[in-house]
Amino acid sequence: MSNLDDLYREIILDHYRSPRNRGELPPPAYHVEGFNPLCGDEIVVYALIEDGVLTDIKLTGHGCSISQSSSSLMSAAVKGKTLEQVRETIATFKTLMTVHESQLDGDTTTPDVEADIRRLGELAALAGVVKFPVRIKCATLAWNTLTQALDEASA
Ligand code: ZN
Repeated sequence: MSNLDDLYREIILDHYRSPRNRGELPPPAYHVEGFNPLCGDEIVVYALIEDGVLTDIKLTGHGCSISQSSSSLMSAAVKGKTLEQVRETIATFKTLMTVHESQLDGDTTTPDVEADIRRLGELAALAGVVKFPVRIKCATLAWNTLTQALDEASA
């Protein structure tokens, strides 16, 4: 597991230092702000939705490395996808954040959890966050904020 942990740490640091899709989008892009008072993390999601596709997404905000790298990883994972695929990715990620720590360790990992982790690609780097429950809200902030933007778009 330790090599994998190193790789995951590198992915998180890389996205923290060079965040993807940083910036703002003008209307008609949806614009939703998220705040995690436990840690002081702030994320602003700009989502441009055209014909049922999330054609562009940009983010601003500040906070800890987990919140900011999670938002960067998210933007890379959902950009250009249909809203249905975006919601699926969000659901898979949130499932990963509720997996019990023991399910991530070696032989006790269930096939379902493994499949989810494989499907998530780079996002799997955040799987280790569940070992630190106080950071889960940091990791899910961007995802909850994006969900809010999708809900506004479909309202
Ligand atoms: Zn945080």
